[in-house]
Amino acid sequence: MHTSHKSHWQTLWINIHLATMNDGSNSYGVIEQGALAISEGKIAWLGKEQDIPPFDQHQVEVIDGQGRWMTPGFIDCHTHLVYGGNRANEFEMRLQGKSYQEIAQAGGGIVSTVTATRKATEAQLLASALPRLMALHREGVTTVEIKSGYGLDTLTEIKMLKVAGQLAAKLPVTIKRTFLGAHALPIEYKDQADDYIDLVCDEMMPKIAEQQLADTVDVFCEGIGFDLKQTERVFSSARSYGLAIKVHAEQLSDLGGTALAAKYQALSSDHIEFLSLDGVKAMADADMTAVLLPGAFYFLRETQLPPIDALRKQGVAIAIATDVNPGSSPICSLQLMLNMACTLFKLTPAEAIAGVTCYGAKALGLSASKGQLTVGFDADLACWNIEQPAELCYQFGVNPLSSLFKVGIKVL
Ligand SMILES: [Zn+2]
Repeated sequence: MHTSHKSHWQTLWINIHLATMNDGSNSYGVIEQGALAISEGKIAWLGKEQDIPPFDQHQVEVIDGQGRWMTPGFIDCHTHLVYGGNRANEFEMRLQGKSYQEIAQAGGGIVSTVTATRKATEAQLLASALPRLMALHREGVTTVEIKSGYGLDTLTEIKMLKVAGQLAAKLPVTIKRTFLGAHALPIEYKDQADDYIDLVCDEMMPKIAEQQLADTVDVFCEGIGFDLKQTERVFSSARSYGLAIKVHAEQLSDLGGTALAAKYQALSSDHIEFLSLDGVKAMADADMTAVLLPGAFYFLRETQLPPIDALRKQGVAIAIATDVNPGSSPICSLQLMLNMACTLFKLTPAEAIAGVTCYGAKALGLSASKGQLTVGFDADLACWNIEQPAELCYQFGVNPLSSLFKVGIKVL
């Protein structure tokens, strides 16, 4: 196995089982009775403990893993965790039998989140988002994607992205930011979707690109979101600013948003319950990642399953994420998503764990540096009190995280 010069090692783990996740979703890439060395925040060596090359005992901190398991730090590649207010009131009204119209009249739905997010200060948004990020982090998450999309005006979209950036200074988590101005039509643009797309492309996007507030642009391409033509205008604008592309598509109907995104070499298409075989093939050809969101499937009591067998057959990478948001997935637990990916979507535990490690990284364009235990990759490492990797998916409610390292430094 490749090794950098041993005298530079700072930390060496011994007596630990490694789930390297080097093999996609085919297996955990297990190295039992393994060892892993860290140098300057990167993985410098890994292999069988018996194969550790000689090293200077005085210079290297040796950590006994006591037979625990190590995986790459988890990656939650799709969240909306910065938002104002919450929708518990609407949740309760629905369960009391109130109609959607009554809920809308009471100011419910995404409108209520947009109103609350516009009203909130940066400090208030930061304070409400922090416990959500903390909950993910405590479960082994070291990288999170956060979308805007509850401002729907230039000032608030920028405010959300700034807050998402500020979270990275509060917790040792890598934050990737996504501009989702085309999430919904704000009420002041009722029946003027094209005009709103003008605002997204001509005013919001240039400012966000100039201030480097986002890496990626996303669109909700759906009957209740934006049509194909509007979606393509946003993609085309994103491309002109050199921003990566993602799409929320085929969640409620098969509109063709995924195939369109494939034409723009999008990183991922997310939700995709209603994706056709042609759409799956387009994803495979464009090497896109399918991001499945079992929390929204569960919370909305959806019954249409994503085309998992077709994704497998076409060799499309599958990622799993929380989709944390106040309307359809108020669930800040990636561990629960692992369980739901298996119970609701019938993924194997190896597929589910690949979905929050190597393929979570792929969905964010980070597959060359995160999501695997590989020499040269960032030393984002989660150490677990488990006897086999499948336990991460099987049991829920007892957090098995033993310790967490971010770029080689112990953070939990
Ligand atoms: Zn979403």
